[in-house]
Amino acid sequence: MSIRFDRKVAVITGAAMGIGGATARKFAELGASVALLDRDTAELEKTATALGKNARAYTCDVSKGEQVEHAITSAARDFGGIDVLVSNAGIQRYGTAASTSEETWDEVLETNLKGFFLASKYALPHLLARGGGAIVAVGSVQSIAALGNAAAYVASKHGVLGLTRALALDYARQNVRVNCVLPGAIDTPMLRWAASLDPDPQHVLESCDRMHALGRMGRPEEVANAIAFLASDWASFVTGAALLVDGGMMVPAGGMGFQESGTGARAK
Ligand code: NDP
Repeated sequence: MSIRFDRKVAVITGAAMGIGGATARKFAELGASVALLDRDTAELEKTATALGKNARAYTCDVSKGEQVEHAITSAARDFGGIDVLVSNAGIQRYGTAASTSEETWDEVLETNLKGFFLASKYALPHLLARGGGAIVAVGSVQSIAALGNAAAYVASKHGVLGLTRALALDYARQNVRVNCVLPGAIDTPMLRWAASLDPDPQHVLESCDRMHALGRMGRPEEVANAIAFLASDWASFVTGAALLVDGGMMVPAGGMGFQESGTGARAK
């Protein structure tokens, strides 16, 4: 058995760039036909064109039910069905409960959590029509822990893990496996944008490296590898799982700063 997706069709949201772009490349490389969904039409077309004839672009905002239904129905019609959904599209916004506007809260929850619900809702009938399939959601280490000043994002990513488990349970007997990856800091346009909000972006990027036990940020293709594994037959007995892809970020008690601060924990 090898990780191949020949004759399979994968729908990937947020596929224009970053983790979604790397995932689209990975599935195409492994033999799948890929339907790329994103709201950034120009970047989406570029990414799809680079993948060749087995890739197609579908512009859609994942927070809008009609658009998601239309994109997924079109993809199923164009490729003859759907076997895999990767729900990846997401946005990052900062704020505490007090400083986050209602509008920003809705934007984050509607993109990160409702977007996953809508993509699943409209992809599932196609997976079931094929006798089963796999869904992989992109959560975050913030699905199981919190970073400061990110109330809406943390809540949305905890929700992604909750929905992963709910879907896994509801569809297990129909041969649909549903899992979630929890990335640490990954070097993508989103992360670069977040760093640019700071007066010293380079300092932020270096801190991101140090947050991980492995001493560096992750690369989008390292998350794509984990997604491909979970969507493949190699993970045939894995459902409802949350797979950390975080370079050991969640391992050290008290965080890496505490480990490096000269306490007894530092002595070897
Ligand atoms: P990027 O911003 O680099 O890429 C995300 C893509 O999704 C963009 O093309 C973006 O378009 C698109 N997108 C955003 N909102 C929507 C929407 N409503 N409808 C359709 N497309 C949309 O992000 P990353 O690759 O970094 O992140 C991908 C996922 O991984 C997200 O869910 C994120 O939360 C998660 N993640 C990322 C981490 C990181 O360190 N990078 C760490 C942990 C989790 P646009 O440019 O217009 O916004």
